[in-house]
Amino acid sequence: MRDKKFIIIPCSGIGKPIGTVARETAYEIIKQKSGTAETVCLALLTSGDKMAIKKINDNYCITLDGCAKHCAQKNTEACGKTPDKSYMILKFAAENREMKPEGMVDIGEGGRALVKTVSKKIISDMDEILQNEKK
Ligand code: SF4
Repeated sequence: MRDKKFIIIPCSGIGKPIGTVARETAYEIIKQKSGTAETVCLALLTSGDKMAIKKINDNYCITLDGCAKHCAQKNTEACGKTPDKSYMILKFAAENREMKPEGMVDIGEGGRALVKTVSKKIISDMDEILQNEKK
């Protein structure tokens, strides 16, 4: 059987700086774990796209929400997939108050630092999942 990939699903978060951080974090992870990590549009899942739903159910799935509404996690679960890991950017922002995203389009230095911090943690957790799989 082929190796499973990680499907990273950020919330759409289109109207909030914290949502932009979620999307940029997903891109950062995919850039760093090229070949291992991919994404699918959350909107495709919510519209019931069969290919996208199969993809998240056949692979590891990580959801990345901006806030406590947990749109990515809830919609992933509604597609029959319990995410292997779920994260909320607001929680990381509360723990790292010096890393404050400044805008919705340009998240600024603080937001970029937050992206680095969150992506580092998630990549470490992804590596741990793969290690545990080998045991
Ligand atoms: S989780 Fe929060 S930031 Fe993300 S799409 Fe939902 S309401 Fe917007």
